[in-house]
Amino acid sequence: MQQAKRVLVTGGAGFLGSFLCERLLAEGHEVVCVDNFFTGSRRNVSHLLDNRSFEIIRHDVTFPLYIEVDEIYNLACPASPVHYQFDPVQTTKTNVHGAINMLGLAKRVRAKILQASTSEVYGDPEIHPQTEDYWGRVNPIGPRSCYDEGKRCAETLFFDYWRQHRLRIKVARIFNTYGPRMRPDDGRVISNFIMQALRNKPITVYGTGQQTRSFCYVNDLIDGLVRLMHTADDVTGPINLGNPVEFTMLELANLVIELTGSRSKIRFLPLPVDDPRQRQPDIGCALRELNWKPRIALRDGLVTTIAYFETLVSSGNVPAAA
Ligand code: NAD
Ligand code: UDP
Ligand code: UDP
Repeated sequence: MQQAKRVLVTGGAGFLGSFLCERLLAEGHEVVCVDNFFTGSRRNVSHLLDNRSFEIIRHDVTFPLYIEVDEIYNLACPASPVHYQFDPVQTTKTNVHGAINMLGLAKRVRAKILQASTSEVYGDPEIHPQTEDYWGRVNPIGPRSCYDEGKRCAETLFFDYWRQHRLRIKVARIFNTYGPRMRPDDGRVISNFIMQALRNKPITVYGTGQQTRSFCYVNDLIDGLVRLMHTADDVTGPINLGNPVEFTMLELANLVIELTGSRSKIRFLPLPVDDPRQRQPDIGCALRELNWKPRIALRDGLVTTIAYFETLVSSGNVPAAA
């Protein structure tokens, strides 16, 4: 077993962050979870609160943070378009000022730092599948730009701190990930389709439904992040992490209807502005550098995710907007 460390997870009360905290605690580390609870919640980590190695701090990463840690996973940032477009200036600040503060912290305490970047840095891509050396096609002034450009700038900062200050950095480009603890009201396609199917309401497919995404189950993704953190110091990334099996949104809608046994019908709605037409990771680099590939097929991951949402619905624990 590796040596126990003090690990900071920003955005630790969110969907991915809560699974990461759980995993790090299970490995015997001390975990400091920092979150402003914009899209995350205490409920996501309530099962960890009794663990003496777990600490939670309400803090916004756009402000400086002075603590002592060995490793930092920087996940703080709303991930769903509905939430990151709610206050776009705050989204850019979270990505840029948040990255500067966490890099400044890493520099002061000489911690290793991992950035949760995103496939959105590729924008609406011209090459398919996307490899890490592709520079992307991102609109700098559209409604998604606060997220896409914010994440791109964060990557720039990570590589400049690496070049200028010899920081130990790791950059993961995460593709669409799903699983339990996604918010039912966060507007992402998997949570929308499942909630609609469970209530026998129309399934809202945007555009023609021919646009594609590749969906990775949360446990697979967390495993990839932890493996990346444990690589040798010369492995900086960026490294794509995602499931390369690609689906159209229409295929996804039909799969969700089948697995929930729903009476829902499909309703076509307009495609949002700048919605990427296709997205699929090339994970050759993750396979080589991390010996990682996803293990959980969409059908199996959806079964677990649907069971989670069913529990939420039957316990009445669903926000009014969902
Ligand atoms: P999430 O919205 O569930 O989690 C984000 C967490 O960050 C929340 O707990 C939120 O309260 C917190 N947060 C937001 N702004 C903050 C701030 N200024 N200070 C402190 N905390 C703040 O989203 P997620 O799906 O868990 O995503 C986690 C990270 O992974 C994000 O950085 C996201 O960009 C990245 N990512 C996620 C996906 C995905 O499909 N889930 C894909 C690509 C990248
Ligand atoms: N910072 C922080 N915690 C620390 C050290 C730094 O939040 O433990 C913040 C600090 O507010 C600063 C930023 O990180 O604005 C960048 O730090 P760096 O040392 O790179 O730059 P400088 O302090 O020279 O601006
Ligand atoms: N989408 C859809 N119906 C919905 C929500 C989303 O058809 O109710 C589509 C959306 O237009 C996009 C895809 O599903 O093409 C994935 O959307 P999501 O917001 O989950 O992720 P992102 O666009 O950030 O990849």
